[in-house]
Amino acid sequence: MPGKIRTRRISGALGRLSLVALLVASQAGADAPETSPRPQLRGESASATTNLIRPKARPAPAKAALSPEAPVEALDLSLRPKARPAEVSRAVARRQAGSVCGIADIRGTQVAPITGRIAGCGVAAPVKVRSVAGVQLSTAATMDCNTAKALRRWVNEGVRPAVGTQGGGVRQLRVVAHYSCRTRNNRAGAKISEHGKGRAIDIAGIGLQDGSEMSLLRDWGRGEKGRALRKMWRAACGPFGTVLGPEADAFHKDHFHFDTAQYRSGSYCR
Ligand SMILES: [Zn+2]
Repeated sequence: MPGKIRTRRISGALGRLSLVALLVASQAGADAPETSPRPQLRGESASATTNLIRPKARPAPAKAALSPEAPVEALDLSLRPKARPAEVSRAVARRQAGSVCGIADIRGTQVAPITGRIAGCGVAAPVKVRSVAGVQLSTAATMDCNTAKALRRWVNEGVRPAVGTQGGGVRQLRVVAHYSCRTRNNRAGAKISEHGKGRAIDIAGIGLQDGSEMSLLRDWGRGEKGRALRKMWRAACGPFGTVLGPEADAFHKDHFHFDTAQYRSGSYCR
């Protein structure tokens, strides 16, 4: 019966339409954190509505995010490429692809080359790493692939063996710094830090499966956790060219600094 066929065609089209609507809705959900970094001010309902219609409005000047004192999160925002609709779907596709640096268990996204605001800063082929060897990073960390590979090797050869079954095993690395265009230890006149070249990462603790943490500040030199931290600190010397821990100097009381700078005399580990 022609009537029945037509009905089926219509309901089939409706099904496709609702599928498209669903896809659009889920994409919008995935992009939401990228495009709405700031809460709306109260008592400004009119401008709030305008902002909803015009997503490109960024209330704060970019230089606020670029100041040397800006926290890592603020810097991250400034590094994001401007959201252009055509690029958004490609970004989503890359995110779903997952693996970067040609290694299955280095997961994250490729990002656009970074040009630093100071000569000597920048990363030619950066990646934003979310996990290595099945261990999450507490925040997506920007670095080059050489550094991502060193981090993965350290997790496999240093962190996992040192932690063993304590707390149910390793869950997460608490990352406190990654790419940041600045001088060493933020001191004026000092050389550009390896952080400014995408070759460094700072880690302040190892999160365990049971929700507890091996904290550099609290556990270094103390008990079973302290022994595990010392083991993984030692194991970082090799995968990384520079390894600094709580015994290096006052700047590193609460975190490991690892970088892949190449020294002619070999690794520098303190
Ligand atoms: Zn550092």
